[in-house]
Amino acid sequence: MNTIQLLKTLVETESPSHDKAAVDRVGAIVAEEARKLGAQVEVIPNSRTGDHILSKWGSGEGGILLLCHMDTVFPLGTIQRIPYREEGDRIFGPGTLDMKAGIVIALAAVESAQRSGLNRPVTLLCTSDEEIGSHTSRAHIEALAKESALVLVLEGGLIDGSLKTWRKGVGGFTVKVNGRAAHAGGEHQMGRNAIEEMAHQVIAIQQLTDYSKQTTLNVGVIQGGTVTNVIPEECTVRVDVRVMQPGEWERIEAAMQNLKPVLDGTRVEATGRLNRPPMPFDETMKTTFEKARGIAAKIGVELKSGGSGGGSDANFVAPLGVPLLDGLGAIGEGYHSEREYIFAESLEQRVQLVSTLLRDW
Ligand SMILES: [Zn+2]
Repeated sequence: MNTIQLLKTLVETESPSHDKAAVDRVGAIVAEEARKLGAQVEVIPNSRTGDHILSKWGSGEGGILLLCHMDTVFPLGTIQRIPYREEGDRIFGPGTLDMKAGIVIALAAVESAQRSGLNRPVTLLCTSDEEIGSHTSRAHIEALAKESALVLVLEGGLIDGSLKTWRKGVGGFTVKVNGRAAHAGGEHQMGRNAIEEMAHQVIAIQQLTDYSKQTTLNVGVIQGGTVTNVIPEECTVRVDVRVMQPGEWERIEAAMQNLKPVLDGTRVEATGRLNRPPMPFDETMKTTFEKARGIAAKIGVELKSGGSGGGSDANFVAPLGVPLLDGLGAIGEGYHSEREYIFAESLEQRVQLVSTLLRDW
């Protein structure tokens, strides 16, 4: 397999999460590559977003599950402005790191492990909706993880190559304020300004952040009002919440449900949920990482552990208690930005590492 060529093809085949036809084009490439390696490929149909591609080598107990996603955060046409390009020791392009390179590494690792005597079942699930919450893939991920001895997630590693052995949980809220519209000149006193009320709420929400507990809230989007001479009747914000420690989600949820209006005659309503539970560096993770470190050392790789405030599909696997390693994809930086790149040599390094894990676990 020519990993660089496949990476270029996958990056140039853009796949924003909400564009089913686009993600399905990547799915077709993945299915074809997996079949070339002798996989039984099942296309899991999905009407909302792209189909999920399930590839199996062998069957039975004690298998290893490789998890990848095919969607990216970049709208169609980004590739015209930011083309795939190899420059020095780096490869740039939308979705290189997150995580087209991860797909390439997974496939190439299977190929490499097959050459050196792979003797256990391997399953590769490539999903279509990770960047928008994995709503249609979560059940498949959980069911497959429960049958597996080990789950390897091919999200990019940290910039120093560390695996991601903890991740914060990710949730969100929508908060709506209702006021009363009125003419800003003629009947100012009759109005109840929803934006003014929301200003109070925004401060209260931001203050729920507690760095000492690794809990953060970010009011990231605000919408309200219509024209300047009307007292705004409605204002809405959307809030990103990250939690790591037990009880913190419950604290935030209670506080959000308890938001009280400051101005008479306005109403505040918050709705939200925890989408991805935290992935703590717990006993299972420690044991799994130590075992992986031992296996990596045999091929001269010094495996390091780190973490991320960002969520991934690993967050769904962690609560199941199944041994799990995340961040096995390429090494680079610039997630979700147009600066995104990977170090070219990390492709081959990770193929070596993942194929060794597949063979020697
Ligand atoms: Zn990703």
